[in-house]
Amino acid sequence: MASALVIFKPDAAHRLAVRDALWAWLREERGWKLSGLTWYRPPAELIQSHYDFLQGRPFFPWLVDFMTALPVLVGRVEAEPAGLDSMRYELGETRIAESRPGSLRERFGIWGGINCLHLSDSPASGDKETQLWGRYLDLTHGSATLEPAGERPDHTFHLRSLFNQVAARSHTELATQEATKLLNAETDLTGDGFGALCRILLGAIG
Ligand code: ADP
Ligand code: MG
Repeated sequence: MASALVIFKPDAAHRLAVRDALWAWLREERGWKLSGLTWYRPPAELIQSHYDFLQGRPFFPWLVDFMTALPVLVGRVEAEPAGLDSMRYELGETRIAESRPGSLRERFGIWGGINCLHLSDSPASGDKETQLWGRYLDLTHGSATLEPAGERPDHTFHLRSLFNQVAARSHTELATQEATKLLNAETDLTGDGFGALCRILLGAIG
């Protein structure tokens, strides 16, 4: 069996309808088993080690802010190596513009590297990542129970369209305002937490 680390990144952890959909997918446990899903706000040093192979890339400072600004949901998956491969296939490619139609990232990721879920890409990286995160929190027991999203909407595709406008510098201010409104409808975050969510998501555009 292989171990893999799974993280609902801040977008997926706090956009409630998206969180519900991903949680439903994970709970299907088709050839994998989930344990230790926990709320946790990672410190920058953990994210810097977790993504050490990306140090020096232009988006790295954003990536660290993205992953540390809010609590995320992190857990461990046990699967046969082939089961892990099929989970990664269902997840889809890293960048949203390139993610396979119908994959989780194409359906629920917003833009660029805002791609909803982290999942270790091989048994070797799964070992490394579960050991690293295991020094900070217990991934072996139980699982958080997530409150259902209720009536919260999923505005993924509309948000993607607005983010594309912001990126193209077309109606930047209006598109930003509209995206902020849609995000507000999707999440329970308020005040500084909501401000952080908007900062890290729109910050992906640079
Ligand atoms: P994956 O998450 O698909 O395994 P990587 O391990 O290569 O992808 O990268 C880790 C994370 O860094 C990505 O999920 C994404 O959030 C971010 N990232 C990677 N490459 C880019 C990029 N070119 N532009 C923006 N963000 C990126
Ligand atoms: Mg990776």
